Amino acid sequence: MQKSAYSFERQIKTHKKADVLVVGGGPAGTAAAIGAARLGKKVILLEKSAQLGGMGTLANVSIFMPVGNVTGIYREIIKEMLSEYLPAGHDESIAPQYSPFLLRHYFNEKMKKEGVDVYFHCEFVGTVREGSRIQAVIASTREGLLAFEGDQIIDCTGDARVAIDAGAAYRTGREGDGLTQPMTLMFTMQNTGKPVKPILPEGCYYYKDVTDLPQGRRLYWEQHDDGVLLVNMSRVKANGADAEQVNYAETEALKQVFSIAHYLQRTGFETYAIAHIAPQTGVRETNQIEGRYTLTEHDVVNGSRFPDVVAQTNYEIDIHSPDAQKTTDERHVDGYDIPYRCMVPAGEFENLLVAGRAISATHVAMSSMRVQATCYALGQAAGIAAALSIEDAVPVGDVEIGKLQAELMKQDARLIGIKERQR
Ligand SMILES: Cc1cc2nc3c(=O)[nH]c(=O)nc-3n(C[C@H](O)[C@H](O)[C@H](O)COP(=O)(O)OP(=O)(O)OC[C@H]3O[C@@H](n4cnc5c(N)ncnc54)[C@H](O)[C@@H]3O)c2cc1C
Repeated sequence: MQKSAYSFERQIKTHKKADVLVVGGGPAGTAAAIGAARLGKKVILLEKSAQLGGMGTLANVSIFMPVGNVTGIYREIIKEMLSEYLPAGHDESIAPQYSPFLLRHYFNEKMKKEGVDVYFHCEFVGTVREGSRIQAVIASTREGLLAFEGDQIIDCTGDARVAIDAGAAYRTGREGDGLTQPMTLMFTMQNTGKPVKPILPEGCYYYKDVTDLPQGRRLYWEQHDDGVLLVNMSRVKANGADAEQVNYAETEALKQVFSIAHYLQRTGFETYAIAHIAPQTGVRETNQIEGRYTLTEHDVVNGSRFPDVVAQTNYEIDIHSPDAQKTTDERHVDGYDIPYRCMVPAGEFENLLVAGRAISATHVAMSSMRVQATCYALGQAAGIAAALSIEDAVPVGDVEIGKLQAELMKQDARLIGIKERQR
């Protein structure tokens, strides 16, 4: 007979202690680590995979969506890796396609330069909480379970995994039915210069025309003259933080990828062969913490401004149908602020922030703030806030906003219109 639950107790050796411990090395986590390290803090970054960059590398997203504010660490990445796209001003929009392999390498080198201690294959499994403080996190490593201590902890797992484990309140997906945006397995095709034989492996689908496709549309980019076609056309109804649903998604998405490639090879890309399939199916949306402030559709649509602004974006509302219909809700956005309070979990947490796509936001608001450049901006602010909290000996939710914004400026971030508002 299957028991309903087990209790599990162990003595776990403490491996290292950091001033700032970042969990998850995606856009938010890499920027958080750099932001804190630049204030002289000892930073440890735990990443469950073998690479930094999060969905941007692991899931082959490979394109930065435009946010109207090319700033801070995101701007630095563009300058150092994609300089041909660097706009003169911060308040401009770019949408460059990049190599996820180069970005992966770039981050390895960048972290060395910044003095960030990165642990790969190191998956967060639990928190040790004493009162309002998280004392340590437990991670599964190649040596088994190890404990890592941090004066400040920043959850950049995308799924709010650390915050949820520590007892923070959270929501999942769309208000009402909890459905999240669907998952997509990104892949690239390479122009071989000669006709290729379309292959449809067993169990895959024959898409006759565009209406049969999972998204009901052709969505791909070919920005450079290197013959690389980046394809974002699969769509699987699943919650990327649900163990059972992820099993389904990983197999269904791969079937769709082969089926889409077969369709493209018959309809305009007769000389293209599959070159690379992302190692994991991309996750757009899972959990959002309940923070001190929740960003709403109203804020996004009406261009809300906040005194504790730490990031800004004008990326559209962009909701791939959570019901896996062939529709995408895309709505223009003029621009709005994201306040610091969205990263501060509600409740008694002295030393925990959540940065990146899992901040406190409604389903619609999240669809706009989730893109990479915004997650870099949020991460950088979280890293700086964690460092200031240590320096000023205050709970991280109570850091002085003026100091946080001033430090962001020192690190070459720009918050459009803030000076005028402060006058
Ligand atoms: C299919 C798809 C297409 C997209 N298209 C675009 C686009 O064109 N342009 C754009 O700018 N954005 C796009 N996005 C959105 C964007 O990529 C993500 O929203 C963004 O990467 C989120 O950043 P993040 O740092 O919050 O989380 P993530 O990128 O999800 O990174 C989280 C990191 O934490 C790690 N992690 C998770 N759990 C643990 C754990 N327990 N222990 C240790 N590490 C852990 C993960 O391995 C990962 O590295 C797309 C997303 C998807 C899925």
